[in-house]
Amino acid sequence: MYDRRKFAKVFASLPVTAGLVSLAQRAAGQQVPPANPAKPPAGKGQMDGSPLGDPLPGQRWRVHDRNRPQPRKVTPGLPMAIELPPSDAIVLFDGKNLSQWNGGGRGGVVTEPRWKVENGYVEMVPGTGGLVTKEKFGDIQLHVEWITPTGADPSRVGQQRGNSGIVLMERYEIQVLSSFDNPTYPDGAAGSIYGMYPPMVNPCRPEGEWNSYDIIFESPRFDGEKVVKPACVTLIFNGVLVHHRVELLGSTAVEPIAKYQPHPPEEPFSLQAHAGPVRYRNIWVRRLLGYDA
Ligand code: MG
Repeated sequence: MYDRRKFAKVFASLPVTAGLVSLAQRAAGQQVPPANPAKPPAGKGQMDGSPLGDPLPGQRWRVHDRNRPQPRKVTPGLPMAIELPPSDAIVLFDGKNLSQWNGGGRGGVVTEPRWKVENGYVEMVPGTGGLVTKEKFGDIQLHVEWITPTGADPSRVGQQRGNSGIVLMERYEIQVLSSFDNPTYPDGAAGSIYGMYPPMVNPCRPEGEWNSYDIIFESPRFDGEKVVKPACVTLIFNGVLVHHRVELLGSTAVEPIAKYQPHPPEEPFSLQAHAGPVRYRNIWVRRLLGYDA
């Protein structure tokens, strides 16, 4: 008996056959990793980023656990539906301008939005802060489309590759990351609720292809300092359910484990300025008013 995997590895490592394998993969339309990926800078490798945190209650893992299994890959269906906003949606970005947004500097300083609008999308401009909605929201249905473009510096891997995020109420981050072939700690992958839950599966598309998030967010309720009802997230990522009404432990910005800090019932949400590169388009939101409203 021979080990099939070992045989395939040795076969592919031969210079000539490696080239043939690569050509065959390209012909089959498969993603081929670069032959000699540039070495990432120290501390910015595939699994670097936020530090290992506390054990997660009810889970077998710690926050940002590097040993947690990678989410199983799922190829989403085609074509991707471009969902135009329903009639009662608030259109936050239709490809033309940022009139619904402020720029968000560090320390909560509000500025003019300084990301670049072109060709129907808005692109993160490093060093200019995030984008924050002018309007505040509580319970919402939110549609967002995003892409991590091709041509990014190959030495940028893990959390350094395409990192942005949808930060609901400016506290609860749903991660945006280049996650087709870019492993990182699973609770920091695209579609993760950062530091709490990886996506149940990974339906991320390759760089250069658009992804969609349909988010149902229920805001937390507080009575003074007490959490009466935790925040809840449902996320459909490229048409695939990756979170189903999961309860959040608190603000994803708090380490070593998420924790609630009471806040008003409505708050803006932001598009996070992190490593990029990333672009967004077709962003709309519906307020969830319940039955008979
Ligand atoms: Mg992020």
